[in-house]
Order: sequence, then C-alpha cells, then structure tokens
Amino acid sequence: MTSTGSNREFSRRHLLGIAGMSAEEIGFLLDLSDGYVDLNREADKKQSLLHGRTLINLFFENSTRTRTSFELAGKRLGADVINMSVGSSSIKKGETLIDTAMTLNAMHPDVLVVRHSDSGAVNLLAEKVNCAVINAGDGSHEHPTQALLDALTIRRRRGKLQGLTVALCGDVRHSRVARSNMYLLDAMGARVRIIAPPTLLPTAAERFGVEIFHDMRAGLEGCDIVMMLRLQTERMQGSYVPSTREYFHFWGLDAEKLACAKPDALVMHPGPMNRGIEIDSELADDLTRSVILDQVELGVAVRMACLDALAAHNGAG
Ligand code: ASP
Repeated sequence: MTSTGSNREFSRRHLLGIAGMSAEEIGFLLDLSDGYVDLNREADKKQSLLHGRTLINLFFENSTRTRTSFELAGKRLGADVINMSVGSSSIKKGETLIDTAMTLNAMHPDVLVVRHSDSGAVNLLAEKVNCAVINAGDGSHEHPTQALLDALTIRRRRGKLQGLTVALCGDVRHSRVARSNMYLLDAMGARVRIIAPPTLLPTAAERFGVEIFHDMRAGLEGCDIVMMLRLQTERMQGSYVPSTREYFHFWGLDAEKLACAKPDALVMHPGPMNRGIEIDSELADDLTRSVILDQVELGVAVRMACLDALAAHNGAG
C-alpha cells in the first residue's frame, strides 16, 4: 500500500459526474485506485481511514455490483455502512426524494451514495445536504464511478488511455455509462466511437466529439477496446428495436464481428449482461478477450479511492 490516504490533490466535495473533471483529477483517482487494488488482494483488507464515519447507500433503482462494491469499499476503509432499502422505507409511502435526503441528513451521515432513475436527481439532492454525495447512477445522465473503473481496467491492461480507440456499442441513448465514459475518455485523450442503430443514439451525439457508425463491422475496424452496453428496456417508452433476435444479429458482439477489431482488442461490459442480446455468451466468458470480471474487481478499488479522496474535503485524512 503506497498511495492510499494521500488525498490532498482532490478538492471536490461531491462526485456527481465526470463532466468538468480534469485529466489530472481523473489521473489522481486512478493512481489512488491502483493502491487499493493491491490492498484488496491481501488477506487483511481493513483500513481505518473512515473509522467513525457513516456511509449510507440510498438506491432508488436496483443494483448488484455498484451497491455491493460501495458497501465493501466503505467497510474496508472502516466506515459504518447502512443500505437503505427503498422498498421498506417511507419512500414507498410517498415521501419525496428531498424529504428523504433531509431526513437522512439530520442523522449526520458523512457520505450518501445515491442511485435514482431521474437524470439530475442526485445533483439536486447534493444541494440540500451537508455531507458528501456520490452519484451511483442517475437516469441516463452519469455513472462516474463506472467510467473510472472502466478507465482503470483499460489502463492496467494497456498501460495508458491516450491514443487508444474505444468503441461504445449498442444502447448509447439510454446509457449513463456511455455518457460518463465519453467525458472521461475524451479528457484522457482516447478516441471514442459510437456504434449504434440511429434509434439508440443520444440526441445531438456529435456534440460529444465522437465518431458515429451505424455498422458494427465498419465501426470495430482497428479498435483497441470494445465496450458493449445493455439494451436498457426499462428506460424505453415505445419500440426502439424490431426484436432482440434481430438486434443480436446486427448489433450483438460475437467472435466473428470482434475479428474486425484489433487482434488483441479487449471486450468490456458494465453489467448486468443480456447474454445472447448484446453479447454472445461464450465470448463474454472468454478470459482471453473479456475483462468483464476485472471491471467488477476494480470497481471496489475505485470506490475506495473515491471515498478516500472525498474524505479529505469532508474533514478526514
Ligand atoms: N449497471 C450499469 C448502470 O447502472 C449499466 C446497466 O445497468 O446497464 O447504468
């Protein structure tokens, strides 16, 4: 452990998105995360940086990886962690988001980790509380810790981000993962391609400074990284794709389409995966190409780094 606890260079109070973050800030969080990857591979993973602190996970949308990894991250840094189950809280009885936040705030938590189905809801909540707020995904807006863990996965495999060509494929329109990745990869000097059917492009996609392709094989040509995105039917009103079978035929990643990318191109997916819809099941499990489990592992380290970095501005460290 060399770099943990070294949180002087990060002066933000909250982590709400990647938009507006500098390459230095991103690089700082990635360097800090590397130290936590090492710690997480040791038998004794416990630190005391956040001893006495309280972290509340407030998830209004389902989550497996993100919620568990924030819980582990908080506990490994010594914090008390509480998971608020929306199903059993007063939110079900009609309490508003802001009322809930103010109620929790009155109990003096130090960090609120919030996921909500509305874009912008987490930013709004951050204005109302005095603790640090981390955005664990708001609607189709941002998911900053996912983009950071994706970047860490790429950087540890390829040694850099700058100059790499990264394809974001599939349902970009509804994907907060794609949006945060576009900001991060642009800030770090990578080239970003979006490969999607016209119905699944974000409005005014060009403003992200990305190259747009409507054909998988053409778009994958020469790519270093192929990031597949889940078809997010829960955010779709109406029909965006003819059928999931047809979707897989044109947009699903299989070994044959992957052959158009660089021979050593890495396959990523933020999870949860729809096997056989956006990605071929065998390819997802092929550890010579797929780094999907690395993403999960590194997610814990990235969340520890984010908690560590925010702690400095919130009275610890
Ligand atoms: N888990 C990611 C998210 O929360 C990706 C997904 O759900 O498809 O955005």
